[in-house]
Amino acid sequence: MFKIGCHLSISNGFYNAAKEIISIGGNTFQYFSRNPQGGRAKEWNKNDFNKYVEYAKENNIEVLLCHAPYTLNACSIKPETRGFALICFKEDIKRLENFGNALYNFHPGSHTGQGIEVGIDQIVEILDQVLYPEMTTTVLLELMAGKGSEIGKSFEEIASIINRVKLNEKLGVCLDTCHVYSAGYDIANNLDQVLEEFDRIIGLDRLKAIHLNDSKMPFASNKDRHEKIGQGTIGLDAIINIINHPKLKHLPFYLETPNELDGYMEEINILKNNRK
Ligand code: FE
Ligand code: FE
Ligand code: ZN
Repeated sequence: MFKIGCHLSISNGFYNAAKEIISIGGNTFQYFSRNPQGGRAKEWNKNDFNKYVEYAKENNIEVLLCHAPYTLNACSIKPETRGFALICFKEDIKRLENFGNALYNFHPGSHTGQGIEVGIDQIVEILDQVLYPEMTTTVLLELMAGKGSEIGKSFEEIASIINRVKLNEKLGVCLDTCHVYSAGYDIANNLDQVLEEFDRIIGLDRLKAIHLNDSKMPFASNKDRHEKIGQGTIGLDAIINIINHPKLKHLPFYLETPNELDGYMEEINILKNNRK
């Protein structure tokens, strides 16, 4: 099955978001665990969650991707920001355990001037505090474009975090097509080579989700500006190649393109029509 969806708001509940994704032709979605700019997570409505679970089963929604807030920065120079990251991780994972086998995606962080080595140390330290043997959630590190002091712009940086975390069987990777293209991995012209490199450095078995975005910015620009599918520098042909690649086609794909619901519907339609 082609697992395709987009980013949706759960401000009206999981059940509503699930109905939305089905109505636009998708079968999975991504949502923010809380306001992307931070703060406390809204209480879950048990009734809504139960309705969602039933609806998801009936409609073959097999997987969801929860995205941590952008304010979660495990390697900030500010101790209070790292403190928030720790609390946020713990609370979000605790909730996700209600689903069983959930996916939780986060941005590795920005070292804010401390340097990559210190930043990686701090990310590893927090992950070591939040991962525990009985958890069923998989925590995904998102590959980043490399703007500012962002960590996670290379396969090597992601691998060095994963390799140092004690319970790293709980970790996976989310590949954002806009980010990696901006980080200098030419998925538009050399997809096979990029995936070989991913496999050699991280291991393709770690790859659990794709953020499917075109890019407004040129190759290797280190800029993070998503574009609608087929309207950016990556282009439709390359994106069709990605969703059909034998090493990627089993993964869930999430659009994070600048769209409202109708725009997402159009893109999902185009992608489904080009799925081989
Ligand atoms: Fe992200
Ligand atoms: Fe992304
Ligand atoms: Zn982005």
